[in-house]
Amino acid sequence: MEENKLKFNTKVIHGGQAPDKAYGAVMTPIYQTSTYAQSSPGEHSRYAYSRSANPTRTALEKSLASIENGMFGLAFASGLAAIDAVLKLFNPGDEIIATEDLYGGSYRLFKRIFENYGLVFHFVNMQNVKHIETQITPKTKLIWVETPTNPMMNIIDLEAVSILSKKHQLLFAVDNTFASPYLQQPLDLGADLVMHSATKYLGGHSDVVLGALIVNEKTLADKLYFIQNASGAVCGPMDSFLVLRGIKTLHVRMQRHCENGATIAHYLAKHPKVEKVYWPGFVDHPNHDIAKKQMKGFGGMISFIPKGSRYTDAKKIIENLNVFTLAESLGGVESLVGHPASMTHGSIPKEDREKVGVVDALIRLSVGIEDVSDLIADLEQALA
Ligand SMILES: *Cc1c(COP(=O)(O)O)cnc(C)c1O
Repeated sequence: MEENKLKFNTKVIHGGQAPDKAYGAVMTPIYQTSTYAQSSPGEHSRYAYSRSANPTRTALEKSLASIENGMFGLAFASGLAAIDAVLKLFNPGDEIIATEDLYGGSYRLFKRIFENYGLVFHFVNMQNVKHIETQITPKTKLIWVETPTNPMMNIIDLEAVSILSKKHQLLFAVDNTFASPYLQQPLDLGADLVMHSATKYLGGHSDVVLGALIVNEKTLADKLYFIQNASGAVCGPMDSFLVLRGIKTLHVRMQRHCENGATIAHYLAKHPKVEKVYWPGFVDHPNHDIAKKQMKGFGGMISFIPKGSRYTDAKKIIENLNVFTLAESLGGVESLVGHPASMTHGSIPKEDREKVGVVDALIRLSVGIEDVSDLIADLEQALA
């Protein structure tokens, strides 16, 4: 089977997963082992110790590479562990330019951990790619992009950033968690590295925390493999299995997330008690054309502000929702509602938060794959 020629909907099911050699098991077995028998000192098959490599994790890593059209995949204990590994490529004094309205946990890792180790971060509004160029210095090493952004749903032109990063010989990384490879494949648009919180759409069932990196270049992959093994933030075989299983239905889930997301975004936009809806599928969304160019659909993530922009109203709506569960995270089959200012973005100072639009009245929806009429009915009664 020549894997890289397969279509996406086939790769999600077969990528990296041939039937197991021992007994022909069709599903990748969960190799729940830390170590492997050696025939003679230092002589072993490719597995010696499960921090270095584990067959279930290997299958997942190959699957991740396959669905992102990459050469090499690496799986980590969480999305943040994956980002942590990327930052360890750099040295004190190196500068990194990152998207301004970044996932709160990434911002915290950058500011509260890696700044202490001498890395310098610049946070930039990347909707105009020219803003990035003004921050580039001889010490700049990495451009870190999140698109669509969380929770403001801004879209950044990946091809334009790629041209810029190549011109200045910078590493270009994309956190592709929100879009998933079903909607957007950054390596094909010129990125050097793709990162995922597989906790979200890839896992898809809110039952596992896991992170991923995918790259094309061998030397970069080798450096990251070294960090993965030396720092040791790997995922276990059971978690690897759960994400492998999740990926098998990514395409059908994403299709429904997009359909339900579109229905709900348009419903909210017309609702008299709603002030503003953020969703890249609207033709008047400021980056709609770029979204259309680089994404296959607009996804199921929507943010909105109730009429009058009062926190008390937002709080009441959130509390009154029943089918939508108030919870952290996103990308699972069930619909979730979140309050970014106190939840995902609680670790960002209020002033910085509000500058990018994360006001106290902002509500974020992760639209699941339930019957959309039940979701609308739930919103209708909560808004009433
Ligand atoms: C959740 C998330 C992360 C962090 O991933 P974990 O698996 O929770 O560590 C990073 N980026 C984005 C966009 C996320 O939504």
